[in-house]
Amino acid sequence: MAGYHQLFIPGPTNMPDRIRSAIDRPMENHRAPDFGELTLPLLEDLKKVFKTEHGRVFVFPGTGTGGWEATITNTLSPGDTVLAARHGQFSDQWIQLCQAHGLNVRVCDRSWHEGAPVQQFAEILQADTDHEIKAVLTCHNETATGVTSDIAGVRRALDDAGHPALLFVDGVSSIASLDFRMDEWGVDAAVTGSQKGFMMPTGLAIVAVSPKALEAAKTSKLGSFYFDFQRNGMSHQNGFFPYTPATTLLYGLRESVNMLLEEGMDNVAARHNRLAEGVRKAVDAWGLSLCGNDPALHSDTVSTVMVPEGVDGGAVVRHAYERYDMALGGGLGPLAGKVFRIGHMGYVNEVMLLGALAGVEMALNDCGAAIQPGSGVAAAQNHFRAAGAATAMAAE
Ligand SMILES: *Cc1c(COP(=O)(O)O)cnc(C)c1O
Repeated sequence: MAGYHQLFIPGPTNMPDRIRSAIDRPMENHRAPDFGELTLPLLEDLKKVFKTEHGRVFVFPGTGTGGWEATITNTLSPGDTVLAARHGQFSDQWIQLCQAHGLNVRVCDRSWHEGAPVQQFAEILQADTDHEIKAVLTCHNETATGVTSDIAGVRRALDDAGHPALLFVDGVSSIASLDFRMDEWGVDAAVTGSQKGFMMPTGLAIVAVSPKALEAAKTSKLGSFYFDFQRNGMSHQNGFFPYTPATTLLYGLRESVNMLLEEGMDNVAARHNRLAEGVRKAVDAWGLSLCGNDPALHSDTVSTVMVPEGVDGGAVVRHAYERYDMALGGGLGPLAGKVFRIGHMGYVNEVMLLGALAGVEMALNDCGAAIQPGSGVAAAQNHFRAAGAATAMAAE
């Protein structure tokens, strides 16, 4: 098919030419005496993306799932209790990973239309006076449902209970896109991957860890050799890695961080909010609704749209792919068939997104949803024009 393939899944995301060019280079010696000139400032600048001064960043060949595993195996011991909510595909998988490592997971089962249950967490933490719970796991942005969670609220729940548990956050589809404040929220481990907000190819797990988590790593008994924080940290100090790092991806990550910091993390978050709000206006104009039942928690990186009765969400995704060369996300787990997902994170702007909304309108109509063609596009256009004017005035 002629023209660019339209990629609107919530990861991997669109890769800017700047990053693609940065990666396109010959192999080199990762033990060269000047390798640290690339890696040391990169590890330092990554802290700005997580908004941490006290934390330490590790970059592993891997993906977000590997980042989860690094966090768990470095800080906990077999039989330890962790607290987690299951309210989507990714929170569910993180729980399964913990169980596979022999942890005792206290699971709060919630509706897949809600964020993490801050109030329920607070009650459980208050009642846990023996401090059996060693870590609280929260998914900042459930990519399956398009629902965010209140990480600051979870921090408050821990503080109000005077509870010493570690706070681990899955930020795979939020970090480098949404407002994320590792130090301010007292996050002890923040996990992400390269192929979402960082606009990179898949292949890196990026994990930021607090001094408290590094302290816990000293007595943890689960243990990992490859992901071991101590072993990696010793090597990182001099800009090296205790294995062969993905050098080309590190150059890509350098360019990614350059782009993020040039735009400014607050501006990155504001852009994602502006774009997502346009999508929400479109969904509204179509007479459809989003999966999340609290508008305050609607995600700025992915919109999970409920399809009308009688329409198969899977068919919409397949048809958009085959007929219009556009990739949308499908419904995961119990949401299969009931939703489709529009990813709008990373390297996206207004006009790109308007194209996606126009494609969705065609695919929906072709699949039997009688929505007015152009209605969502117009609603998003109006939002973008008004929001653009506000941004221009703020800049003056
Ligand atoms: C994509 C994603 C993951 C899984 O990451 P991989 O890079 O696919 O291993 C985990 N959590 C969330 C919230 C995600 O969006």
